Amino acid sequence: MINLILFGPPGSGKGTQAKKLVDKYNLLHISTGDLFRYEMGNDTPLGKEAKSYIEKGALVPDSVTVGMLKNKVDANPDVAGYIFDGFPRTIAQAEALNALLEEKEQTISRLLALKVEDEEIIKRILERGKTSGRSDDNDRSIIQNRIDVYNQETSPVFDFYAQFNKSISIEGMGDIDTIFDRLDKEVSSI
Ligand code: ADP
Repeated sequence: MINLILFGPPGSGKGTQAKKLVDKYNLLHISTGDLFRYEMGNDTPLGKEAKSYIEKGALVPDSVTVGMLKNKVDANPDVAGYIFDGFPRTIAQAEALNALLEEKEQTISRLLALKVEDEEIIKRILERGKTSGRSDDNDRSIIQNRIDVYNQETSPVFDFYAQFNKSISIEGMGDIDTIFDRLDKEVSSI
């Protein structure tokens, strides 16, 4: 199995690239952001709880996020591997993911981190906000908060997997296909 973490700040292109990797490697794409938006769209108790954090650009508490992720993984055991997108976003989530995969005698193959400058991120998210219908994509201060949370809480997850020589930094500026080729070079060598 190939189990990837697609990593990088909000708006770095994780979702776009995940779709292309799914097409090529037939992996299951698990985006915690998409899962939360699905729950919010259906106005479930989990969705209602998540909404209060997401609309401020804060992280949803680990216990809620890990439980939701675990359900999704457990519901899809017979896959060629997983692409985790937007997860783990804290060290505690990384530890929970390790434990979950260990139970299944699996492991993370690589963490692929897309590097994109802050200015470009803000530009991309505001552009996406015109059509995404996401309230967290329309407001500069919420976007800045998401970037700050990424720098403070999420970026240490890169170092966590670097301890095991699994973290790879990828240039995330450029056109979509060029960035995909950079990612694909790493995945095809696993
Ligand atoms: P982006 O990467 O563009 O910020 P996502 O769709 O991945 O967007 O996430 C949107 C929001 O959902 C985040 O700002 C956060 O509030 C919440 N969220 C997503 N994944 C997680 C996670 N692993 N832990 C906590 N909160 C999360």
